[in-house]
Amino acid sequence: MKILVINAGSSSLKYQLFDMDDGSVIAKGLCEKIGIGGAITHKRPGKENYSAEVELKSHDDAIALVLKLLTDAELGVISSVDEIGAVGHRVAHGGEKLRRSTVIGDEELEYLYSIVGINPLHGPPAIKGIEACRKIMKDKLQVGVFDTSFYSDMADSTYIYALPYEYYEKYGIRKYGFHGTSHRFVSAQAAEMIGKPIEELKIVVCHLGNGSSITAVKNGKAIDTSMGFTPQDGLPMGTRSGALDPSLLTYLMKQEDLTPDDIDNIINKKSGLLGVSGVSSDCREVMIAAKDGNDRARLALDMLVGSIKKIVGSYIAEMNGIDALAFTAGIGENDATIRERVCKDMDYLGIEIDTDVNKNAPRGTKIDISKAGAKTKTLVIPTDEEYMIALDTLKLVTK
Ligand code: AMP
Repeated sequence: MKILVINAGSSSLKYQLFDMDDGSVIAKGLCEKIGIGGAITHKRPGKENYSAEVELKSHDDAIALVLKLLTDAELGVISSVDEIGAVGHRVAHGGEKLRRSTVIGDEELEYLYSIVGINPLHGPPAIKGIEACRKIMKDKLQVGVFDTSFYSDMADSTYIYALPYEYYEKYGIRKYGFHGTSHRFVSAQAAEMIGKPIEELKIVVCHLGNGSSITAVKNGKAIDTSMGFTPQDGLPMGTRSGALDPSLLTYLMKQEDLTPDDIDNIINKKSGLLGVSGVSSDCREVMIAAKDGNDRARLALDMLVGSIKKIVGSYIAEMNGIDALAFTAGIGENDATIRERVCKDMDYLGIEIDTDVNKNAPRGTKIDISKAGAKTKTLVIPTDEEYMIALDTLKLVTK
């Protein structure tokens, strides 16, 4: 069966068409500048890419164009839309109610609308993507796969903030966690690499990219994660501050006469690696600057490494041990220096890596970088959220 995976942003829409008979991607691409112009890049493995400027007034236009290209005589990969079994959508937030991947009907859509308030950036575009597919592919099942659902089993003592309890009841203010689809995929892969059932393992997954999060996976369930009510909490990221003393925000607002939107903009777009280094949000560029002697770039990287270590350590304490530490996403998969620095002086916890294997780890493949005999396996695992979405979709369709 073929499954189409859609990841809709406010002005962009990514797609991948999977052949689930062998798990291969037969076409993928990106629609950009939706509502402000329009462009598409369409890729098929082993064939030349196709790019064009095309007017895309809405997500409906984007989906219609994607289907046109997928079935095009020259650029297409299928002869008709009928070949698509179902559509899986990446949805960042499923709130408290959508705790598992699910077929999206009217009721689910209504619920997604009801939680836009706690998910203002990512909620509306995901809804637009689903609505466009429902309109244009009326007979296909639309499945929502939520970044938050992997965290549905966390204990209340982990997800409740120590604020007046009424704010949880009134506004749903709690830790939700994000990147769950990636953490779920990577932890399952880690178990496969170790050759044991995930139900018997304690795994910490470090998803380190432009956005970063760490998750503790005990016996196959996420028991804690570094992102919280929003994807802002936890580690310093490309432009996000990560965890802060909450009162410093109100202090700063008073000092600089800032509005809530100003402060949101600062902690989301101007902080993290960019804010501290003053160089870039891109880890590679900060690394180059640090090597050239830029002290604030050095500081930003020291803060990132220190935060990762602290969170990993706290999760090992929470789980009473660790069998595997897995690195994924742009930095986690590619940056051997960050991995080496994180794992340094962790031998007490059984984490010891083979620095040569780590340095020479080939890109894009999963690899065990642990030292021979190390008690804890340290693994590099490329994430594949889209494949996980396709798998969930297939499961629901064939059920
Ligand atoms: P992501 O959000 O997963 O695409 O990750 C983006 C981050 O990964 C950026 O900070 C990049 O600097 C970093 N990154 C991507 N490729 C590499 C690489 N080859 N070496 C080091 N960092 C990389």
